[in-house]
Amino acid sequence: MSNDKQFVKEITPQGEDFSRWYIDVIKKADLMSYSPVRGCIVFKPDGYEIWENIQRELDSKFKETGHRNAYFPLFIPESFFQKEKEHVEGFNPELPWVTEAGGEKLEERLAIRPTSETMIGHMYSEWINSYRDLPLLINQWANVVRWEKRTLPFLRTTEFLWQEGHTAHEDEQDARRETMQMLEVYRQFAEEFLAIPVIVGQKTPSEKFAGAIDTFSIEAMMKDGKAVQAGTSHYLGTNFAVAFDIKFLDRENQHQFAHTTSWGVSTRLIGALIMVHGDDRGLALPPKVAPTQVIMIPIGPPKTREQVIGRVDELYAELKKAGVRVKVDDRADQSPGWKFNEYEMRGVPIRVELGPRDMENGQVVLVSRVSGEKKIVQQADFVQEVQNLLAEIHQQMYDKAKQFRDEHYIAVDSIEEFKTFLETKRGFALAGWCGSNACEEHVKQETGATSRNIPFTPSETKSTCLVCGEAAKHTVVFGRSY
Ligand code: AMP
Repeated sequence: MSNDKQFVKEITPQGEDFSRWYIDVIKKADLMSYSPVRGCIVFKPDGYEIWENIQRELDSKFKETGHRNAYFPLFIPESFFQKEKEHVEGFNPELPWVTEAGGEKLEERLAIRPTSETMIGHMYSEWINSYRDLPLLINQWANVVRWEKRTLPFLRTTEFLWQEGHTAHEDEQDARRETMQMLEVYRQFAEEFLAIPVIVGQKTPSEKFAGAIDTFSIEAMMKDGKAVQAGTSHYLGTNFAVAFDIKFLDRENQHQFAHTTSWGVSTRLIGALIMVHGDDRGLALPPKVAPTQVIMIPIGPPKTREQVIGRVDELYAELKKAGVRVKVDDRADQSPGWKFNEYEMRGVPIRVELGPRDMENGQVVLVSRVSGEKKIVQQADFVQEVQNLLAEIHQQMYDKAKQFRDEHYIAVDSIEEFKTFLETKRGFALAGWCGSNACEEHVKQETGATSRNIPFTPSETKSTCLVCGEAAKHTVVFGRSY
């Protein structure tokens, strides 16, 4: 047994030290352990189960949109990385290499994949011969490794779990349609499943994926005002097709290069969930992703205990049958008060209390994790009331996160204005940008904030660059990020 949980006596309040709060919460809720390898974490069952719920939902969305899963090797020959210039430049500093195996030095070094465009490009060149083979729509669930300098559990780890979609298309139009479709799948997923409002837009050239023509992202705001890039979708043009010779005979019997895309989300989403919804009492999980949606706690003196537990079990069975993820904690050696705190800290959306008086009245008490409100409902309506409350809680969590985001998201005209905002209030700034790398870099140097994306639907459009004052090419969201 690990000592992680015992180690954290009290959760540090968010307002006192947000980073400490984050680590306290994930340890106390038993989501992960640090491993002996730098930057790599162990996903403990309570943390991994969140990932499984994310996987299940996304996987079904990928399948609904015509994708199938496959699995490609972990090791990638060095020569593959040399084929796409920007890709190798971007990823080289982060690659771990296998140089020796089976007691012998390898003839060619093998990289541990940081992403699989190269391996999949190589395979697609063998699989794709005709326009009839297109579109090819594949997703992979896998682990990848990027030798990150700074790491933080879930949000930025050396090894992480993710999905990477890789598709090939006949032409640019179809590949761009796919890129946007998957970005929209991510937006919907973030907002409707994780209750995280996101800003959807295009990355600036300096922030795009190494080897992509265009990168699009969804960006979320954490409770300390910092950004998390929650998902990316890339239009790769023919860059990887040319590098890996993914050619096909088109409808006119001409050789063409395929247009490819890739898109991914990772276990970083678990970190985002915690930082968007958590509070001083601990985790707060949105109902759709919560491993346990309802915790049932029998209360009252020993003499009515058996009777109460009997009724709790019946109600439990009804909820379970309706597909709700429910658990009962009927341990006699922990007090109800202790249990209330424990499940609040673990972020369980609804607590159900049942005592002798509720038995007499044919009632049951529902308590919401986020609002703390108590609701007394008829046992006859139990399942319906729980389902209604789960839906309500999702909406409340989304609204609350959006309100916070909107209150910490302002439009600025100058870098001074942005600096003042970061000092006093923290959050994102919407600003005009002339399009030059120099001005983008200046913002970073002066404020520590990077461009998050060029939002598709900004609340307003800015006409001058926040740094040089020249005409703005784009209106950009800037923010410090994880
Ligand atoms: P990319 O391939 O760089 O577009 O990244 C795909 C997804 O993985 C994005 O949602 C990133 O936010 C996420 N990601 C990138 N690096 C890490 C990391 N070190 N740990 C966790 N997630 C990551």
